[in-house]
Amino acid sequence: MQLKIQSLSKTYPNGVRALRNISLTINQGMFGLLGPNGAGKSSLMRTIATLQEADEGSIFLDDLDVLKNKEQVRQILGYLPQDFGVYPRISAEQMLDHIAQLKGIGKKSERKELVSALLEKVNLTKDKKKNLGTYSGGMKQRFGIAQSLMGSPKLIIVDEPTAGLDPAERNRFYNLLSQIGENTIVILSTHIVEDVRTLCSDFAIICEGELMYTGQPDAAVSELEGKVYSKTIKKEDMQEYRDKYRVISTQLKGGNLNIRAYSETDLGDGFITAPVILEDVYFSTIAEKVDLVTL
Ligand code: ADP
Repeated sequence: MQLKIQSLSKTYPNGVRALRNISLTINQGMFGLLGPNGAGKSSLMRTIATLQEADEGSIFLDDLDVLKNKEQVRQILGYLPQDFGVYPRISAEQMLDHIAQLKGIGKKSERKELVSALLEKVNLTKDKKKNLGTYSGGMKQRFGIAQSLMGSPKLIIVDEPTAGLDPAERNRFYNLLSQIGENTIVILSTHIVEDVRTLCSDFAIICEGELMYTGQPDAAVSELEGKVYSKTIKKEDMQEYRDKYRVISTQLKGGNLNIRAYSETDLGDGFITAPVILEDVYFSTIAEKVDLVTL
């Protein structure tokens, strides 16, 4: 199965060009979507999820025209938006049963079986009677995944799912997603760049509505190998370094600045070659559009 986005554009009524001629092919497995705030990630995901119209372009899931067959797409779609409300005074079990009814599963016994299988999958069986309002952030996200998995979707879209989760909850959540990702398309947007390296077979970087990069995380990192240099400098020297080098990121460390710079040739000047991380790919890609170095 393959999702093929072609020349997709969207301008909001207020004039914001959220998507500019995006063409992207997404295969089965986990696909990471990276980009700064306002890049257009949610706009892209909502369009794929049939929740908003595009102005131009097409999206096909194999032969299925996504923009023209919304109902059919919704049958095979699982969508976990950034903020999904939960009804605080209803239990996970009741809520899933309700969603199953909405999905048209009329037979009580069938729903019961489905709901308990989903609860088991997201490890909420022992908490199924508790009201959703009492759930922790991680439990809510796992519940969100359970509801998005209703009806065995072939395409799952999760928009920044780990915001507010602690590292252990994040791990559990990701383990769950990876298992699901094996025979579905999972599109995941996140701010945590290294998570994309760990989890995703392919990824894309978008910025200001444009597709800036698409490829495999490991290959992207290899492309930069030997071209990223680091050095610790005094804060007040930053401007000088910015003028002289292609600084891609900075990090304050004990009052000094650790800077990373991109160069095709050996930088000398006290710089050492640094092991490349996906963040270097991300920052050097979006640096074309966004001024990242702020003091
Ligand atoms: P991201 O998810 O990457 O943060 P969004 O898709 O939410 O980006 O937003 C892309 C751009 O479109 C931003 O400039 C945002 O302010 C704008 N935008 C998003 N939704 C709307 C809307 N419904 N109406 C007008 N502008 C919007």
